[in-house]
Parts: sequence; C-alpha cells; structure tokens
Amino acid sequence: MNRLRQFWHATKKVFDLPRRLRGVRDGRADPQIPTFAVSATLLLGAVLRKPSFLQLQFESARRGWQRLIAQAAAITDDRLAYVAERYRLEDWRALLVQTNQVLKRNKAFEAAKIHGLLVVALDANEQFNSRCRCCPECSQRRVKVKNRQGQIEEVTEYYHRFVCAQLNGPTLSVVLDLEPIRPGEEEAAAALRLLGRMRRLYGPRFFDAVTVDAWYATGPFLKAVQRLGWGVVAVLKQERYEIYQEATALMTQASSITWQWEDRQIELREVQDLPFTDPVLGLLRVVQAEERWSERRQQGGQKITVNQESFWRWLVTGELEAIPVQGIWRIGHRRWGIENHVFNELTQHYHLEHCPHHHPVAIVAWLLILMLAFNLFEWFARLHSQLLRVGMITLAELARQLDRALERHEELEPLWSG
Ligand SMILES: [Zn+2]
Repeated sequence: MNRLRQFWHATKKVFDLPRRLRGVRDGRADPQIPTFAVSATLLLGAVLRKPSFLQLQFESARRGWQRLIAQAAAITDDRLAYVAERYRLEDWRALLVQTNQVLKRNKAFEAAKIHGLLVVALDANEQFNSRCRCCPECSQRRVKVKNRQGQIEEVTEYYHRFVCAQLNGPTLSVVLDLEPIRPGEEEAAAALRLLGRMRRLYGPRFFDAVTVDAWYATGPFLKAVQRLGWGVVAVLKQERYEIYQEATALMTQASSITWQWEDRQIELREVQDLPFTDPVLGLLRVVQAEERWSERRQQGGQKITVNQESFWRWLVTGELEAIPVQGIWRIGHRRWGIENHVFNELTQHYHLEHCPHHHPVAIVAWLLILMLAFNLFEWFARLHSQLLRVGMITLAELARQLDRALERHEELEPLWSG
C-alpha cells in the first residue's frame, strides 16, 4: 500500500482537506503559480519534515510531488517565501480550527478528558535566536557572552516567542492555535489574546479548563480566563505570595491521599478557601503533590537505582471545585506519561527552531502550517496506522515511509482530482 496515497486519501475523506486548502488565500494580484499549489507544497513539506524552502524547491521537482499537487514545474524557494509573506493568516488558522473541530466531532479527544473535562495546556516557546535584527517583530534583550579574548561582554540578542495551546491525550496530542508574543510584551498578555480568539473560533464549550505554568499565576490572568468561561489550574511557585505561605502552614494539618501513577508514588494534600492577591477571584484551592520514584541508571559500567522526588503546588479556581485532587494532579501535569510530546516532536523532528523565511507574516504562516501538519500526521499515525499501534514502527519511520512513497509516483492521485 502506498502510504502517502493513503494519507492524502484519509485527509480528504475525513477533513475535506483539498477543498479547504483551496480556501487559503494570499495577497498576490497576479499569481503565476496558483496559491493552492504553493499551500499544498508547504503543507506536504511540513508533513514530510523538510527543513527549508530551498529543500522544498528540490522536493517540488520530484515527479510524485508534482503529480500530487497537479503542478508540472518545481516551485522556487523565492516563490515560496514571496507567497508566505502574503498569506492571509486567518485562512490557515481557520483550516487548523476546522480540522480540530472534525477531530472533536469524531470523538478523537475523548481519551484526553480528565474527569470528563477537556483541558488546554498553554506553553511558550522561544526560537530563531540571532545577534542581528531580522524583522520588525523580533524581540530583543541584552545577554552576557564570552568573546574571543575570553572576556565577558554584553550583546543584544534577537529572538521570537509564541504561546501555543495544546490538547494532550494518551493517544493523540494536537495544537489548537498559537499566538506570537510581541516585542516587550508579557507572555500572559499574548496568552489572553490567544484564548480570546480561541473562544471566538472554537466556541466557549470546545474545552473546559486551562492549565498553565507558574508565571501565569497572577490575579489579572486568572480573572480574565474565568471571564472567558474556563477554570484554571496554575503552578504555584511564588513563595512571596501570601497564599503560598498560608498553604505551607495549613498543609501540615491537611490529611493526605497516597496514590500511584505509573511508577510514581504520590502523596496529595489540599487546602480549601484561601484568599489570593486579588479579592475578586474569591477563595481558591491549593493542591500539593510530593512525588517519589526510582530510576535505573548506568554508572561506571554498573546499573544503579537512583531515588527521585519532586514537589508541586497548584492554584485551582472555583470552576474546578468538583474535581478531586487526583484529577487536579493530572490536569496540573497535563501529561499522559509523555513529557510534552508536542514540543519534543516539533523540535526534534519538525525543525521548529529553524526559520525557513524570516518575515513577521511568513513566520506565523509557517508555524500554523507546521502545527497543522503535526496534527494531521499524529492523527494519521495514531488512529490509522495499525503498524504504529502495535509498536512495529516508529513515528520517524512512518514519516520516511510517506517520503519514500513519493517515488512510486504512478500510484499517487492528484489532490484535486474529481
Ligand atoms: Zn524577527
């Protein structure tokens, strides 16, 4: 069976992808190459994990590639960059939203629910670090580096950051949307812009709660998310907060629940009705976890057992009152045994840190395409590939199979046939 044919066929059948891909527009007045041929090349390039637009120029000269996108000539890297700068980002976003809505309708997220709740995790990522300004949207900061003479000097570093909203499940993890963090902007401000847009695009009931890291645990952020209609579980680290100190004092008297998750022995405690810095939030719950597990390591040619432990505290808003401590633990960790699968995969296998074309619009367009490709590939791999399910091949091998399938071009059907 031709894997690539199978992949495109599945995306067509389930997501109506070719037609929706045609709906992505760009601002060119007189396009020499149709937008959908460029869009399909970028999406296919992202699925097959190609690292650069120059690489895509070579790939688009392959017969199988040209047959798939119904375009008889290679597309140059300049052309890809030119179109990427002019994309209407809302179209790529709409495509990402539509595919996730289909997945939800098809019950693909059922297994990701915790106590019946679908929880979105927000994470920030930093990338494209450089010593020179590459575009007007580059953030900047001063960093200390060692120069050639071995002396410490301060230089300006430029970089980009974005906040990403993901759903993590035991079988399927997807990205829902992403938002660039503007120069000089707080991460939480970009996160709220992202959540506000997601409420508009996905609707208020697409998911039920949000889980975030410690730097979002501020009164204004929690209040704004509550106003949008979602409960929040936030890591609580700031010992300067009164609520942290109060929780410390009260936790010693709180009874504990001992619980086992995979190889971890977990002791959970909670304190109810604590006031936070912002009285409008009302009284909040703090849940605490002390975790112990052992790891086998290689040391000096011998295997040894190393005991590990970690300590967590989460702030929980009133909407999640009914969720027991075990549920809060799972939401807080928002992991299903796989430590942030989405970013690990994107960084290791999808060249997330590499910028194919440094331009404010092209960057966001490429990230949206990358996330869409990631979602589609994960969905195909986990829900469609029997081989992967029984552990006979890896995700990377499946990606290579898709790539090799391009060589059997006579088996491929154009995306827009029929
Ligand atoms: Zn830039």
